[in-house]
Amino acid sequence: MAAHVAGTGQWRAYTEDPRATTSRILIVDDDPAAARAAQHMVEAEGWTGVVADSWSDAVRLFQDEPFDLVIVDAVMPTVDGFKLTQLLRARSTSYVPILMLTSLSDDASREHALSVGVDDVLSKPSSPLELRLRIGALLRIRHLTWALEAKTRELEAMARRDALTGLANRRSLDERLAVELARAKRYGRPLGLVMLDIDRFKRVNDEYGHQVGDRLLEFVGELLQSTVRPSDLACRYGGEEFVVVVSDTTATNATALAERLRRGFEAKSGTLTAAPTQTISAGISGTDLLGPDATAEMLLHTADVALYAAKNAGRNRVCCWHAELASTGTEP
Ligand code: GH3
Ligand code: MG
Ligand code: MG
Repeated sequence: MAAHVAGTGQWRAYTEDPRATTSRILIVDDDPAAARAAQHMVEAEGWTGVVADSWSDAVRLFQDEPFDLVIVDAVMPTVDGFKLTQLLRARSTSYVPILMLTSLSDDASREHALSVGVDDVLSKPSSPLELRLRIGALLRIRHLTWALEAKTRELEAMARRDALTGLANRRSLDERLAVELARAKRYGRPLGLVMLDIDRFKRVNDEYGHQVGDRLLEFVGELLQSTVRPSDLACRYGGEEFVVVVSDTTATNATALAERLRRGFEAKSGTLTAAPTQTISAGISGTDLLGPDATAEMLLHTADVALYAAKNAGRNRVCCWHAELASTGTEP
C-alpha cells in the first residue's frame, strides 16, 4: 500500500502506479455551480472529482492528496487560474497535467495559459464529450510520465547500489562521505571510517570457485547491514573491499565496531560454503586522528594505510591508523 509522504502532494508519484486506481481529478472553481457541473461530468466517466472552491483550498488539497489531473478555472479572485498553475507547478515533483476551463476565448489568454504551464485550454461551457476526450488525452500523458518517472527513480537507485551485496556502491560513498564529513565538522563531532578487506580472497576463488567467493561477499554485506547503525553508511568499495562510514564516532569506537565485524565474519564464514573459516582485516581512521582539516581523501587513504599494516602484521586483525604508519607505507 502507498505511504503518504506528508506535505509533498506527490505520494503516488513515489509509490503507487496511478493506472492501478481510479484517476483523481482536482477541480478548482470559485463558482459552485460550475464546479459541480464539472464534477458531475468527471464522475459520470468513472473518475473521482474533488472540488476546491478557492486557490488556497486547491494548494492544500494538492499538497496533501494525490491527483492525476487538475482542472482550473481561469478567472478567480485573488489568485487566478494562471497564477495558481504556477503555484501548483512549483509544488510538484511529479508531472500532473493541468487543464484550464475558461470563458476567456481570446488568443492572448490562451497563449498566456500555455506559457505559464497549462497543458490544454477548453472554453466554457464545454460539451461533456469534449471534456471527456481532453481529460482522457491528458491522463494518458500523466500515466506515461509516471511510468518514466518510476523507471528513472529505479535506475537512480540501482546506480547507487552494488548488485551482489545490496550495499551502497563507491559512487554513493563518495557523495555521502562528503556530506557526513561536512556535517561532522559543522557540529564538531567525530567521524570514523572502517576499511575492510577479505584475507587471501583470491585463494578462495581459485580453490573453491567464484560462486563460493560471491557467497562470502554477500555474507559481508549481510554482516554489515545487521551490525552498523542506520545512520552509518556501509558500502562495497571495490572487489572484496568494504568501507563503513561511522557517524558521530571516534577512531577508537570505530575500531571496536571493526573488531565485532572481524569476529562475526570469522565465526560464521566456515559454515556458509564448502570453504573453511575465512578472515578479514580492517584499517581504521577517524577525524579525531587527522584533525580539523581532514578530507574524505585523507580518511580513505589513512584507513587504507592502516589496512595494509593489518595485512603486514599477519592479517585477521584490525589496525588503527597512527602517524608513524605514514612513513612506513609498505604494502604486504
Ligand atoms: P589479501 O589478503 O592481501 O587481501 O589477498 P587477496 O587475495 O584477498 O587480495 P587480492 O587483491 O590479490 O585479490 C582479490 C580477489 O578478489 C581477486 C578477485 O578475483 C576477487 N574478487 C573481486 N571481486 C570479486 C567478486 O565480485 N566475486 C568474487 N568471487 N571474487 C572477486
Ligand atoms: Mg583481500
Ligand atoms: Mg583487496
